[in-house]
Amino acid sequence: MEQEFTGRVKVINRRQFNTNGKYIIYWISHSHRAHFNHSLEFAIELSNQSGKPLLVYFLITDKYKYSNARYYKFMLDGILEAKKSVEERGIKFAIEKVNDIRQRIIELSENAYALITDKAYLKYHRKLNKYIADRLDVPVYEIESDVCVPVEIASDRQEPYAFTFRKKIYSLLDKYIVELKPREPKIKSVSFDFGIEEIAFNNSLEILNILNIDKSVSLSPFVGGYSQARKYLEEFIEKKLHRYKEFRSHPELDYQSNLSPYLHFGQISPIEVVLEVLSKYGRNDENVDSFFNELIVWRELARNFCYYNPNYNQYEGIPEWAKETLEEHKNDKREYIYTIEELENAKTHDEYWNSAQLELLKTGKMHNYMRMYWCKKLIEWTDDPKKAFDIACYLNDKYELDGRDPNGYAGISWCFGTHDRPWKERKIFGKIRYMSASGLEAKFDIKKYVEKVKNL
Ligand SMILES: Cc1cc2nc3c(=O)[nH]c(=O)nc-3n(C[C@H](O)[C@H](O)[C@H](O)COP(=O)(O)OP(=O)(O)OC[C@H]3O[C@@H](n4cnc5c(N)ncnc54)[C@H](O)[C@@H]3O)c2cc1C
Repeated sequence: MEQEFTGRVKVINRRQFNTNGKYIIYWISHSHRAHFNHSLEFAIELSNQSGKPLLVYFLITDKYKYSNARYYKFMLDGILEAKKSVEERGIKFAIEKVNDIRQRIIELSENAYALITDKAYLKYHRKLNKYIADRLDVPVYEIESDVCVPVEIASDRQEPYAFTFRKKIYSLLDKYIVELKPREPKIKSVSFDFGIEEIAFNNSLEILNILNIDKSVSLSPFVGGYSQARKYLEEFIEKKLHRYKEFRSHPELDYQSNLSPYLHFGQISPIEVVLEVLSKYGRNDENVDSFFNELIVWRELARNFCYYNPNYNQYEGIPEWAKETLEEHKNDKREYIYTIEELENAKTHDEYWNSAQLELLKTGKMHNYMRMYWCKKLIEWTDDPKKAFDIACYLNDKYELDGRDPNGYAGISWCFGTHDRPWKERKIFGKIRYMSASGLEAKFDIKKYVEKVKNL
């Protein structure tokens, strides 16, 4: 297999190709893009080799736990753009509304030569892929296109710290950061009838209208899709990257890339981002180093964490020392205790925290530095750290465009001691790292941030 695919392709059931199969399916589950998508290019190669037409298939359901208008709109923007680009290459891209995902994928794949889908890191999706693979008599491929280095190659265990992981992943980068060339499909399947009841629509809002999902979460000013992701990437490289190290932790300014929602939905490839940065900047530049530390080390450490720790989205998944110290301080007196409704509606005594929550409510993207403060305060303002963990996951998954992602669970877990070390003991937090309002004041112009959020 060509170097582009090294380590990224895995058959998760031991089945032979179904030579009677009528088509190849690429079920696009995570990598919502036509560009730099290893699953798509692999599917085209298989189609060319086997002589079977390719169907790219996206299913939409309103049964998913956190389905809401905010992130569905963003996701659908990306899917519609991907559909257009895939069809311009002559390949059919069908979108269908379904109630039972497992049943529908199995049904469609029974007549297929092979099923190709994207690699999953979170429990629900991993179980789903396995359930389907176990029941099918055709090979099911999982392809890893949304990381620089495939998760099992980067490490075979849960890494305790970023520095242990950094060494491993950086030693592998040259081998895995390689261009992916687009393949030419030999069979143009775009006008084939694959027997799918496609959704008729003109834009993403029309699809939203036919879905029975939570519409109380407002739409975000961010528009989804590959071309928007490219716009943010180019603007970042041109105007922000040269000061990234200095200003990335200044929420009152705007020096982050804003790529996280696009990366979350696989609307842009992280490898494409790395290659684009390296086409303009040297690898040894301190700002590039700082950016890659987030994009490669912390992002892929989050995948490592969720892949190897089955309790990644629960309090139980934090390190033993952290649980012990939090339990010891569980009965410490709290000055403030808030209900979930007060927190959700940004009604606390702390205007800095309220601003962070308001930024989230209004835009669907809270600044990274405020996310840490926001989550730490939940530990201080609830009577039980387990409850704090659950509230953090609930709010993060509901409102962040980039929520429901390994980064979110790892980020929350970090606030509870994961990938961190014990600090000086203090009340409520024990040895967990603490953050204070005065710390924000010392580090950047927090009043300016409060004003910025008011004007959003
Ligand atoms: C409590 C908490 C919750 C978080 N929830 C999420 C979440 O749900 N989804 C999410 O994508 N990120 C989450 N993060 C990580 C981080 O805050 C966001 O990735 C970042 O703010 C995204 O903005 P950006 O793309 O402009 O970042 P940039 O600074 O431009 O970074 C570039 C990319 O690097 C990655 N990255 C940056 N910081 C981190 C980090 N700390 N951990 C892992 N990857 C990182 C992201 O993919 C990001 O898009 C959370 C962090 C904390 C502390």
